[in-house]
Amino acid sequence: MATATRLKGLGVGIVAVTGAYGVLSIRRNPTLSENDQQSLDNLRKKISDTKVFVPSREFMRSSFMNCSPSNPFDVLVVGGGATGCGVALDAVSRGLRVGLVEREDFSSGTSSRSTKLIHGGVRYLEKAFFNFDYGQLKLVFHALEERKQVIQNAPHLCHALPCMTPCFDWFEVVYYWMGLKLYDLVAGPRLLHLSRYYSSEESVELFPTLAKNGGGRHLKGTVVYYDGQMNDSRLNVGLACTAALAGASVLNHAEVVSFLKEDDSNRIVGARIRDSLSGKEFDAYAKVIVNAAGPFCDAVRKMADKDAPSMILPSSGVHIVLPDYYSPEGMGLIVPKTKDGRVVFMLPWLGRTVAGTTDSNTKITMLPEPHEDEIQFILDAICDYLNVKV
Ligand SMILES: Cc1cc2nc3c(=O)[nH]c(=O)nc-3n(C[C@H](O)[C@H](O)[C@H](O)COP(=O)(O)OP(=O)(O)OC[C@H]3O[C@@H](n4cnc5c(N)ncnc54)[C@H](O)[C@@H]3O)c2cc1C
Repeated sequence: MATATRLKGLGVGIVAVTGAYGVLSIRRNPTLSENDQQSLDNLRKKISDTKVFVPSREFMRSSFMNCSPSNPFDVLVVGGGATGCGVALDAVSRGLRVGLVEREDFSSGTSSRSTKLIHGGVRYLEKAFFNFDYGQLKLVFHALEERKQVIQNAPHLCHALPCMTPCFDWFEVVYYWMGLKLYDLVAGPRLLHLSRYYSSEESVELFPTLAKNGGGRHLKGTVVYYDGQMNDSRLNVGLACTAALAGASVLNHAEVVSFLKEDDSNRIVGARIRDSLSGKEFDAYAKVIVNAAGPFCDAVRKMADKDAPSMILPSSGVHIVLPDYYSPEGMGLIVPKTKDGRVVFMLPWLGRTVAGTTDSNTKITMLPEPHEDEIQFILDAICDYLNVKV
């Protein structure tokens, strides 16, 4: 998410994405030098022109043909998820010549399968407070700043979402009320809305499927706080399209299959790319290659050095989709502590309710499948909080 704040620094904000189409608006930033301001003004003109469209895939494909050993990209990004598209947009807005390749479609990996939350870092705040950890507090400030910026950049894809924290004894009421008030205080000008306590009657009115009695305990009320919710895949596509409008060459269905190295120094100077739509392969040259392949990072690293030790410890997170009546429109529910001390969310999403997530070791595959015990874990975590059968 660091891209959002950096783009704010440059006065850049995504103002409209319709379908798979993104447009930037760039405001004047008094802290920039005259030269930087000039190039930003040019960029703004280029992308705010309503007659300009995101170039076709064919055009993108041909723009890769224009790069050669003597005229390489400044940056070639491998992977078109949130990280890769964010890197591409950031780099192109700095005036660099950028290429990006994604072997499937943009956001087809982890970046379309998140819990869709724009966290403001409430969990880090708990750690910062109890461990006197300034590092964690800095993370909260950073997350809050990014949350505000992402929502401001793409208000058509991101919004504030109230999340209800059920409390089944008075200690929990005081604990969560004080903790979330502290969160409000730390948020300061980045606050979305103030948190507040609701009695059990008010809570059930707001969240009709909330159980008044759960696990033999009586609901004492809820504390509602606000975090952000985003359309993760469309936000990702918006980043890719905006980078393309700004001049980056972004190509989907194009896989890096090997790296090109200088004969004498073994230095990587580019990548061999397979266009999976045509089946043809071509070379792309770059001064710098960014590995943004998410869970597949190790496979890309091993293309560069087959002896590179693995770094990724893969873990899968499962969400289940429930019918809409499990959660009201515009209100989420948080199970603050599951049996193994984790947090489970139940959130309204595209007319349904999404609940999750889990965290268990897995193999790296493009389409990981949920196990029965993971589904059961989520159902167990939410069933005590609901008055409907799950
Ligand atoms: C269960 C779960 C819930 C989450 N919830 C949230 C949340 O609520 N909020 C939040 O902010 N974050 C959340 N996250 C984290 C967030 O989803 C990830 O940090 C983010 O999506 C990672 O993006 P990425 O671009 O690094 O990886 P990916 O999205 O996986 O992208 C990597 C891409 O690289 C491509 N690729 C791989 N190899 C090659 C190759 N050789 N050539 C070309 N392309 C290649 C893949 O096809 C893939 O599309 C969650 C993560 C998980 C697992």
